[in-house]
Amino acid sequence: MTDEYYEGKETELLEQPRCTHCQRTPSTKLLRCTRCKVAWYCNRTCQKEHYRQMHRSLCLGIAEFQQYVQEEEERIRAVEDVFVTSTGDLWGYAETTAYMEATYALSDLYWQAAYQCEVKEVWEKALYHLLEHLRLGAIDTKGARARVPFVLLALNRDDEALTFIQYWVQVDLATEDDPEIIFRAHENTKEGDWIYGPVEKDGRYLDIFQVVSDADPNEVEVPFLVALAIMKLRIVAAYDTAIQSLRLAMTGTAGRVHEVQSAIQDMLIRGDLQSQWEQLIRLLDAIDHLNPSMLPAILNPKPLFQQPPPTQIMPGHPSEAFRTLMDCRRCFYRVPGAAALLRNRLGENPTYDSDMS
Ligand SMILES: [Zn+2]
Ligand SMILES: [Zn+2]
Repeated sequence: MTDEYYEGKETELLEQPRCTHCQRTPSTKLLRCTRCKVAWYCNRTCQKEHYRQMHRSLCLGIAEFQQYVQEEEERIRAVEDVFVTSTGDLWGYAETTAYMEATYALSDLYWQAAYQCEVKEVWEKALYHLLEHLRLGAIDTKGARARVPFVLLALNRDDEALTFIQYWVQVDLATEDDPEIIFRAHENTKEGDWIYGPVEKDGRYLDIFQVVSDADPNEVEVPFLVALAIMKLRIVAAYDTAIQSLRLAMTGTAGRVHEVQSAIQDMLIRGDLQSQWEQLIRLLDAIDHLNPSMLPAILNPKPLFQQPPPTQIMPGHPSEAFRTLMDCRRCFYRVPGAAALLRNRLGENPTYDSDMS
């Protein structure tokens, strides 16, 4: 398949690193930062400049937290191996709280590094640390849960994002009757385990509210709804641009027409377009209902970004829109037509409640 039309994927994901400073891919082998291992350079000059201009605190932070996490882990294990006996409940003990704080901080630094360099390997590192943090502490106090789907989307792992969201929506529904259910999947797991169930191929086409039929769209957390909406936007945009390139291809060679036609057919077999649109609109409606600041903030983030970052995230509040924006905005804007769709819905520069104080 050529990349002449949008395939419903993140287009900027780098399979191979390039220079983190000048963004070039030199013919010589890249140097890799030996301390953090998540930055690459053409030469010493690029490395020095980048370190001085922006890399220093991230690089030192990663090294520092890595060491701290490792030391804490050894200290905790020497007393009792809670990593085996209490997997999933590490927020539940005073002795492991600092450790959990640190594992989140480390995942956040990797997330920042991935956001900067867009290298697949670094996104995978961020994902790994987020998933491990959540596996050890199921009661998510840091918002790791809300970030995971967007990291999966950055990696074009949309089907896994759906599985992950589906898992938490089901758990949230079941916790009222059985609060302990939140820990169940975490018990007896080991480092690196994916605990959210089998990933269905092409699951991204599914309607979450059919898959989890008891779920009320107006009770699902906003970041999940936003991630689901981006999944649907990717599907409908891929279809739209495929149609456009089919028209263009009509004037070209027959082989090209055939190629695009079969791509469209492929999409239609997996999920009909009408249903994908309906799902998308339903998701957007639910987001508007739960947090009226969210969608306008995607189009017009300035009023939020002019304020200091919120110290606490509250559902339905502008602080939640701020936090979600950090994770979703670039991913959203990179879907062709996504911003135009929101503008049609909300107007050019929508105003909204942005007061985070
Ligand atoms: Zn360079
Ligand atoms: Zn570094």
